[in-house]
Amino acid sequence: MLGLMQEHPLLISSLLDFAERHHGDGEIVSRRVEGDIHRTTWAGIARRSRQLANSLESAAVEPSGRVGTIAWNGYRHLELYYGVSGSGRVLHTINPRLHPDQVAWIINHADDQLLCFDLSFLPLVQAVHARCPAVRQWVALCEEDKLPVDSGIPHLLSYEGWIGGASAHYDWPRFDENMASSMCYTSGTTGHPKAALYSHRSTLLHAYAAALPDAMGISSRDAVLPVVPMFHVNAWGIPYAGALTGCKLVFPGPALDGKSVYELIESESVSFAAGVPTVWQMLLEHMDTGGLRFSSLDRTVIGGAACPPSMLRAFKERYGVEVLHGWGMTEMSPLGTVCTLKKKHLDLPMEAQLQILQKQGRGLFGVEMKIVDAQGSELPWDGQARGDLLVKGPWVVQEYFKGDGGAPLVPDAQGRGWFPTGDVATIDADGYLQITDRSKDVIKSGGEWISSIDIENIAMAHPAVAMAACIGVPHPKWDERPIIVVVTRRGAQLTKAKLLEFYKGKAVARWQIPDDVIFVESIPLGATGKMLKTQLREQLKEHRLADRQAEVTTNG
Ligand code: AMP
Repeated sequence: MLGLMQEHPLLISSLLDFAERHHGDGEIVSRRVEGDIHRTTWAGIARRSRQLANSLESAAVEPSGRVGTIAWNGYRHLELYYGVSGSGRVLHTINPRLHPDQVAWIINHADDQLLCFDLSFLPLVQAVHARCPAVRQWVALCEEDKLPVDSGIPHLLSYEGWIGGASAHYDWPRFDENMASSMCYTSGTTGHPKAALYSHRSTLLHAYAAALPDAMGISSRDAVLPVVPMFHVNAWGIPYAGALTGCKLVFPGPALDGKSVYELIESESVSFAAGVPTVWQMLLEHMDTGGLRFSSLDRTVIGGAACPPSMLRAFKERYGVEVLHGWGMTEMSPLGTVCTLKKKHLDLPMEAQLQILQKQGRGLFGVEMKIVDAQGSELPWDGQARGDLLVKGPWVVQEYFKGDGGAPLVPDAQGRGWFPTGDVATIDADGYLQITDRSKDVIKSGGEWISSIDIENIAMAHPAVAMAACIGVPHPKWDERPIIVVVTRRGAQLTKAKLLEFYKGKAVARWQIPDDVIFVESIPLGATGKMLKTQLREQLKEHRLADRQAEVTTNG
């Protein structure tokens, strides 16, 4: 017997309708590429998204046609999120930090028909446009009078000129909620990137889950600053969760340095912010140097890469800001876990609570997880056994766009497909996930695994360390040994001996302590701000270790 409830597809346009009706005066504040602060509301976003939808009709972008964006976080990008997907086209957000060859490849692979870009990316567009013949129209996200003359891009339009004359009346079409809504290419470091193709249904379910109290806990009383870019995995779903909850949204535009982010948090009374550790590192450095305080920020979600416990402590102990450590990936829309305490943990001493909060957190409803050994057998949730992490759920990819990479899912005994995340993890009895490594970053010394994240976290706790990456280098006896590559804080003094001394007495076995410390000016970062450890491994593969460890590793 079927239930007798209304058939109502979960469509992205319904989020916008809801936002306009229920919190039409909710604020959307953006720092623009032009440098000024722009203010609008959900009603303004809804009106202009409809104008955009009409403009897409006029431009004859077909249903499910791809519209690319190369843009910072801002109100125009938000309109594209709603106008493109809401009208039945597919929003393709492009990471401008990728190499131009990769950007051109992605635009062509996605078959983008129209492409909107912020003026700061004009040089990138100039470098790629001639290689993207399928793009019928390039649109600069600016006023008509800011349109660059002699850009070299044929028929370049200004966004304001393009949508400005269009009608603000538009009836959002109703269609199957499983239709594609947006897409994002993985930040793969080898080979061509592959695209996750999100649906309206997956996006709405993810938005519901993201806003829940044990996830990001976003409400209409929040002012939310997504520093995490809208050009990668939909800014962790915040543009959708924002419409759903009616929170104020504050967009940082291109200004992601510590000073600019701090000023925006203070001037817009931001209560909740989201970003990767490297961004928060810049913010904390700025605050520490200037002796600054937060007057409104009470929590921040940190993910995309492991949040060092020292960062969690700095936010909590020095600034009274709660850190929600989150884990996910492009293929998961992206949220998988967020770390919050359970009721039974509330009476624990602060130190014990911090031990829990360092983990990547508990799976959201909608994400099933399991860890398996090399044979594919499921491992226990005991916080000790570590294995390859697999996930499944309604906002996890089934396969990649155009079938790239073949069938990614691993079937279990019941024939159900699980997505292999490529991460190695433990899960404890309370369901808290802890990522120990990306499987390709795992260090294997004398047959034993060393978690590069654990080793980095200890180095990051040293006051002189700004950034640390632990990688394995070849060793004749132990196959691999860990070394730590370190960037020191400005003006700080640190020696190899002092850092290695710092490992003593920490939660690390003696044989896991790195064999060498290499000081560098900077660590290579990928297009989403993550340390490129594969690149470091390549650079340092000839690195020869001193004899010290021959004696130390015998304890392993
Ligand atoms: P991306 O698809 O670019 O978002 O990258 C996803 C990958 O980033 C995951 O598979 C993890 O390896 C890594 N990652 C994301 N969040 C975390 C986290 N909190 N701790 C450790 N690794 C993370």
